[in-house]
Amino acid sequence: MPLFAFATTPMTSELPKHVPTSKAAKTSFLQQVRQRLMKEYDAVTKRLSTLMDKGKSMWEEYGNKDEENAAEVSEFQDTLSMEKNLEKSKADLEAALQQVDAGTYGKCHTCGKAIESERLKLAPAATLCTSCVLKAREQK
Ligand SMILES: [Zn+2]
Repeated sequence: MPLFAFATTPMTSELPKHVPTSKAAKTSFLQQVRQRLMKEYDAVTKRLSTLMDKGKSMWEEYGNKDEENAAEVSEFQDTLSMEKNLEKSKADLEAALQQVDAGTYGKCHTCGKAIESERLKLAPAATLCTSCVLKAREQK
């Protein structure tokens, strides 16, 4: 199951190829971005609460047999790591929404240049431009 829905979900409205510069066009671009971020945020929040319910009931149904427990523990750990990833996506989406409101959306956190709109299309919560992502990967 993909963790990041935005990479696989087809978008209902295509974003323009480049972040527009005129004020009116920019406002409508940001409105589209905002709508998408909100949608993703809702989806992530829902998935997270489903997952947390699942984790809770798994914990309550904790079996008495050892071999059963081993399987349950590993499933429980999977759920926890999925939960962690979703929490991260949620935080990223929240940050992106704040940036939209603050008028700083779409700027690379490292070099300050505009993030490619193609990249924002795939990952609306992206905080780095492609070249900074590549540089960060090389350093790892
Ligand atoms: Zn950059």
